[in-house]
Amino acid sequence: MAAKVITIESNILKKNDSIAGENRELFRKYRILAVNLLSSPGSGKTSLLVRTCGVLKKKLRVSVSVGDLQTAADAERIAGAGVPVVQINTGTACHLDANMVQQSLKSLPLEQTDILFIENVGNLVCPATFDVGEQLKVVLLSVAEGEEKPLKYPPIFQNADCVCINKTDLLPHVDFNLNQCRDNLKRICPHAPVFEFSCRTGEGLGAWHDWLLGKWSALAGVEC
Ligand code: MG
Ligand code: ZN
Repeated sequence: MAAKVITIESNILKKNDSIAGENRELFRKYRILAVNLLSSPGSGKTSLLVRTCGVLKKKLRVSVSVGDLQTAADAERIAGAGVPVVQINTGTACHLDANMVQQSLKSLPLEQTDILFIENVGNLVCPATFDVGEQLKVVLLSVAEGEEKPLKYPPIFQNADCVCINKTDLLPHVDFNLNQCRDNLKRICPHAPVFEFSCRTGEGLGAWHDWLLGKWSALAGVEC
């Protein structure tokens, strides 16, 4: 019985990987840097995108796909930053898969997009398994959570191209041990750069924006 379940899952993932490959080809064709943003619910993915889109759109053409089980609340917030955005409602699914992202791309101006942010469903478990064709995986956590998150959910952190620590303005008010968190990240994902900032105040976001601009320049082969 157990073996049967494993077979079904591997078939699902095989199909997903094939569609992810199609997405990757689309991103290559349109020279789009696709960034998959992953975190628990409430870490500040949408707040980060509102801030980041507002800054990056001065230099690059930005689009966003955002996944949630229900509502268009996040897409509406991000639309306020003045960038094209499409909401994917996953119903009961606790992650985005490559097909959902592919469907959302039909509603976005790919020819006029340099960087695409994909806000995944808030979940640190299965989004780690579902490739959506992105070039970069960004994992976000906040100081309102525990510094042991990287140890508890290693697969998602091990595959991160960078890790962001949000809500640093709350540090004086919470028991979050920032040094311990940095040590945990060094153990689990030693090569991922770590950015620490507050999306509420904006403090510390510059280094994150510069990192993204650097990644886009490397992909496009031009300065920006
Ligand atoms: Mg959100
Ligand atoms: Zn899931």
